[in-house]
Amino acid sequence: MTTTLAIGGYSDTDFAALTSEFDPVFLGGPDELAGLEAEARSAITAVAYKGHAPFGGDQMDMLPNLGIIANYGVGYDAIDTTAASARGIKVTNTPNVLNDDVADLAVGMMLCQGREMMQASAWARSGDWAKNGEYRLNRKVSGSTVGILGLGRIGREIADRLAAFKMDIHYYARSEKDTPGWTYHGDPVSLAQAVDFLVVALVGGADTEKFVSKEVIAAMGPNGVLINISRGTTVDEAALLDALESGRIAGAGLDVFLNEPNIDPRFYALDTVVIQPHQGSGTVQTRAAMGQLQRDNIAAFHAGADLLTPVN
Ligand code: NAP
Repeated sequence: MTTTLAIGGYSDTDFAALTSEFDPVFLGGPDELAGLEAEARSAITAVAYKGHAPFGGDQMDMLPNLGIIANYGVGYDAIDTTAASARGIKVTNTPNVLNDDVADLAVGMMLCQGREMMQASAWARSGDWAKNGEYRLNRKVSGSTVGILGLGRIGREIADRLAAFKMDIHYYARSEKDTPGWTYHGDPVSLAQAVDFLVVALVGGADTEKFVSKEVIAAMGPNGVLINISRGTTVDEAALLDALESGRIAGAGLDVFLNEPNIDPRFYALDTVVIQPHQGSGTVQTRAAMGQLQRDNIAAFHAGADLLTPVN
C-alpha cells in the first residue's frame, strides 16, 4: 500500500515524476481525503501538497501516521504549521528556485503598468495606430523611487533588478538589513509616502493580513502604483479597489488576489491595473525545479535523511 499521497493539480511532468518515484494516491484537494478508506489513510506517511486550499489540523488528523507535508511553493500559508508541529509533522517548501521568475514578473508588471504596454498593444492591433497615429505618451519607469515591502529572498531579487533601472530603492522589513545604500523604513506608511512604486513581497498568512492597509494605500498618493506578487491577503483589497476607482492612486500590477481565481470583477473595469493570473513562478524551468525540490524532500523523509528545506 502506498505511503505517499499527492494532493493538488500537478502538471503531466510532475505527475509522471511523482508516479515513478513514489507511486502515490492522487487527490484533487484536501476535501477528497474523506473519500479514502481508513486503512489507506493510515498507510500515508508523506503528503506532496500543491494548492491554496487550507490544510489544517482536521485534515492532518485524517492521516494518523503522517510525518511530512512537502509543499509545492515557497509560500506555505495554506498549511497550518502550528497544527503540524503539535502533531510532530514536518513541513517543507520550495524556496529560492523561484526567486528569479517572481522578480521578473514584478518588474514586468511595473513596466507594463507605467508604459501602458497592454493598452498600446491593443491600440496597434485595432488599427488605431495606422488610423489615428501615435499612441499617447505615458510614464517613465527607470529612475523612479521604489519601495520594497518585505526584503526577503524575492524582495531582494526585485530590488537588485530595479537598481539596474537606476531606481532609488527604499524598503521595509522588521529589522534593518545590510544593503548597498538603500533607505530603510521601520513602518509601511512611511515607506509608502516616500515612493512612486510600492512592491509587496511579504509572506502571506494571518500575521501579514491587510498589512497594506487603507492608511498605507492613502499614503501612496495619486502617483502611487502598487505591485503585489505576495498573496491577496496582504492587501486591504476593498480599500485598494476604492482608491483605484477614485484615482486616489495611479494604478496597480497584481499577480495575486483574494478569492483567486474568482477575483473581484471590479478589477476588470480598471485599465490602470495590470492583472496576472498568479503566474509568478509559472515557467517550465522553475516549475520543474519546484517539483524536483518537493520530491527530494519526500525522498529524504522516506530515507530518514535530513530534509532539504524544512520550515518547522
Ligand atoms: P522570505 O524570504 O521569507 O521573505 C518574506 C518577507 O516577509 C521578509 O521580508 C519578512 O520580513 C517578511 N515578513 C515575514 N513575516 C512578517 C510579519 N509578520 N510582518 C512583517 N513582515 C513579515 O520569503 P520569499 O521567499 O521572499 O517569498 C515571499 C512570498 O512571496 C511567499 O511567502 C509567497 O507568499 C509569495 N510568492 C508568490 C509567488 C507568485 O507566484 N506570485 C511565487 C512565490 C512566492 P523580515 O525580513 O523582517 O523577516
